[in-house]
Amino acid sequence: MGVSRRDFLKLSGSSLLLGTLSADPASAETKERELRIKGAKETTTICPYCSVGCGIVVHTKDGKVVNTEGDPDHPISEGTLCPKGSSLFQLANNPTRASKPLYRAPKATVWKEVEWDWALDQVARRVKETRDRTFKTTAKSKVKEKRTDLAIRESGLPVEVEIDVEREFSVNRTDGIAHIGSAALDNEECYLLQKLMRSWGLVWIEHQARI
Ligand code: SF4
Repeated sequence: MGVSRRDFLKLSGSSLLLGTLSADPASAETKERELRIKGAKETTTICPYCSVGCGIVVHTKDGKVVNTEGDPDHPISEGTLCPKGSSLFQLANNPTRASKPLYRAPKATVWKEVEWDWALDQVARRVKETRDRTFKTTAKSKVKEKRTDLAIRESGLPVEVEIDVEREFSVNRTDGIAHIGSAALDNEECYLLQKLMRSWGLVWIEHQARI
């Protein structure tokens, strides 16, 4: 019996489909995942990338992240994650990730690794120096003020006019330092950081999720 070109394509297509179905990739994937997280410690956390704040389950073995996935019990995301959040595993397991502070000295062209103690001392020293140098107790600003102009109009009555007047105000602030927060901060950390920054007199306080 001859096989037409059309029959050949139908037959080969069906066998391919049967072969694919019998391989059941979904079940193979589930098994592989189960093996990967078997015996792993489960910790819940929040995705650090944006202000949606999706919930994530992190699986760790011997202190290493072995898997991350959406947290089905999370009230906001209910187990779903966007592509960026789904790739969170690579944030922890990435050979290009910086694991130590990097410092580029003024006019230098390369970054070099430094110790945490040195980096933190530098930050503290420079914040103090900059704050002391730029702190202002008062500042001048123009405000609108209503004045009764004594010039008599045709009606013969005094006229109220609004004019710009320069006044000096107590400000107790520094314009020399800015702070930017990260979406990885939780509510309590943001609260404490706001308290700290305001106590230093900062006014330029921003957040990653807003820009
Ligand atoms: S998973 Fe996506 S949408 Fe959810 S917090 Fe992370 S970056 Fe934002």
